[in-house]
Amino acid sequence: MQHFDVVVIGSGPAGSAAALTAAKAGLSVALVDKSAFPREKLCGGGVTGRSARYLAEIFDLPTGPDLFLPSTRVRLTFAGRPIGGQEDAPRLHMTMRRDFDAALHARAAASCAQVFAPARITAIDTEAPSVTLADGRCLTARLLIGADGANSAVARALYGRAFDPEKIGFGLEVELDRDLTPDNTTEIDLGAANWGYGWVFPKHGSITLGVGGVHARNPDMKAHFQRYLAQHAPHLADSPRLRCKGAFLPFGEYRKVPGRGAVLLVGDAAGLVDPITGEGIAWALKSGQYAGEAAAEALAGGAQALPAYQRRLAYIHGEMRAAIRIRALIYAGPIRHYFPRAVERNPSMSHSYLQLLAGEKDYADLGHAVLWRLARRLGGSVLGRRRAA
Ligand SMILES: Cc1cc2nc3c(=O)[nH]c(=O)nc-3n(C[C@H](O)[C@H](O)[C@H](O)COP(=O)(O)OP(=O)(O)OC[C@H]3O[C@@H](n4cnc5c(N)ncnc54)[C@H](O)[C@@H]3O)c2cc1C
Repeated sequence: MQHFDVVVIGSGPAGSAAALTAAKAGLSVALVDKSAFPREKLCGGGVTGRSARYLAEIFDLPTGPDLFLPSTRVRLTFAGRPIGGQEDAPRLHMTMRRDFDAALHARAAASCAQVFAPARITAIDTEAPSVTLADGRCLTARLLIGADGANSAVARALYGRAFDPEKIGFGLEVELDRDLTPDNTTEIDLGAANWGYGWVFPKHGSITLGVGGVHARNPDMKAHFQRYLAQHAPHLADSPRLRCKGAFLPFGEYRKVPGRGAVLLVGDAAGLVDPITGEGIAWALKSGQYAGEAAAEALAGGAQALPAYQRRLAYIHGEMRAAIRIRALIYAGPIRHYFPRAVERNPSMSHSYLQLLAGEKDYADLGHAVLWRLARRLGGSVLGRRRAA
């Protein structure tokens, strides 16, 4: 048996941020991951301006050319039809998660008391709290942080399941030849899936093409993926050699109370993915940092960890609530053509969407002005149709 102040399970962006923050505050931290690093992680790898700020703040990691490819050219489409975009859009930093996560893990690992990776967990006791590894070792802690992603074993130990199958998102992706977008254009297709979208993200040595959305509203996501792929690379659409991969992401379902007792959930395990843009890296980093800070505050005797963590999360939860409300206006079946039409006709609407996508604006910043414009445009379209009828 080994004892630590904090055991962090999972060393993606959330877990690495939590471990590093807690260790820097002087706590003894064990960092456990089922994989050795570098490891693959299915993701578009779009790092926004918001994520870039958190990377600098938490990891002192600049968005330099070794890990990131900047993209400022964005094309917006709807089912393949161009509807807008910008040559000088707010910058996205495109990265490969294999390398990105390895860099974060290395920084966190260097400050932790002990790292267990790869390590298979066979039991989690959320009351003690403790975790048992496959080799029989038992790690006990004053606080346990679950940073183990969308299908979190820690969340399952707490609640019986990691996510609600009616609300979870799902994405399919493939890596393609770089020469499909030689000019580093990022593409978003708002009609490629229901309650979701398709994307082409340029990388240093490849491009990532994918589609994603609410799983329950896309019973045949593979067909959406094949259609989107056929638009970009018809010669590959039926290729038996092409291997797309899929993964869940919490797309609109977040935990209002992310944990219980001495257990905190962060990142995807807490459901912190933007329900409109699908951005999850930023809130994973920030919630990890908050959990590390709350752990330090609690173990210094100042507070209980969960309320201290929840207080810090209030702004992120506000953003999640705002996005969930707005997304019904964008994605709901009968009106899903209106938002693309509004983007097409109104450059300022298009610009607001790109700012949101690039993490340069929060929902709180866009707030009422954009919502009002959007509602007015949608109202105008509905009235127009009624008059025509
Ligand atoms: C198809 C797709 C595309 C996406 N594109 C983007 C994008 O472009 N930009 C963006 O910002 N977000 C994107 N996201 C969301 C983003 O990937 C996640 O929100 C982000 O990775 C969450 O970080 P995390 O640290 O919480 O979890 P993860 O990154 O999933 O890390 C979890 C870690 O826990 C480990 N783990 C899991 N189970 C166990 C266990 N039982 N024991 C020990 N360790 C365990 C894993 O090995 C992993 O290292 C995308 C997601 C998907 C599915």
